[in-house]
Amino acid sequence: MVTLFISDVHLEEGHPEITDIFLRFLKTTASKADALYILGDLFEVWLGDDDQNPFNQQIQSALYALSQQHVPIYFIHGNRDFLIGETFAKTSGCILLNETSVVDLYGTPTLLLHGDLLCTQDHAYLAFRQQARQPAYQLHFLQKSLAERKTIAAQLRMASQQYTEHAQIAIMDATPQEIPDMLAKYHVSQMIHGHTHRPAIHYMNLEQGFKHRHFVLSDWHAQGNALYYYPDQSCRLVFFK
Ligand code: MN
Repeated sequence: MVTLFISDVHLEEGHPEITDIFLRFLKTTASKADALYILGDLFEVWLGDDDQNPFNQQIQSALYALSQQHVPIYFIHGNRDFLIGETFAKTSGCILLNETSVVDLYGTPTLLLHGDLLCTQDHAYLAFRQQARQPAYQLHFLQKSLAERKTIAAQLRMASQQYTEHAQIAIMDATPQEIPDMLAKYHVSQMIHGHTHRPAIHYMNLEQGFKHRHFVLSDWHAQGNALYYYPDQSCRLVFFK
């Protein structure tokens, strides 16, 4: 019995080695899990559910096969695949969760999110995020041809890369105070997210006699990885090739 968490796989056609690790993970480790949670940025970019190229179809089929093995798959949008919609959910057998969701992990309420919301010092990004998450904005974008969407996405990506190179490192990380604030806001003792690519399990407030846990998942750029969460509340971050 184990529940698995992954994020920031950043799947794309140009990196078949990551795709292979991911597909093998679904077939082996994930097929024996109680549930799989994907906390965003599964794809490097998602232009819309109508972008049914063979690569996207292959990933959706593999997820669907896992869901048919009675492993529920939950999905929270990342900043790169926030356009994933209900069609994708159906085709891949995934259940879409809200951007902040509290779930019960073997008796412990736990806050799940992608993690970009925690980077509150990155005002430019948060302004873009607010706009990009509006249904009217998304509808407008999705009405463009796939070719147009590809061009816009490539431009955004280039601008984002330039911005990231020049932004201060602290801005790109979670604001420290956001962690206790979020735990308090959602009345939970632990939270799990990715996005920052700074994998860790932080233990907090041990001196006050209660344990708060803050799990940060890793990206898949160097190798595959997942957080294994067990019924006795123990857990570990596992890396694999
Ligand atoms: Mn992200």
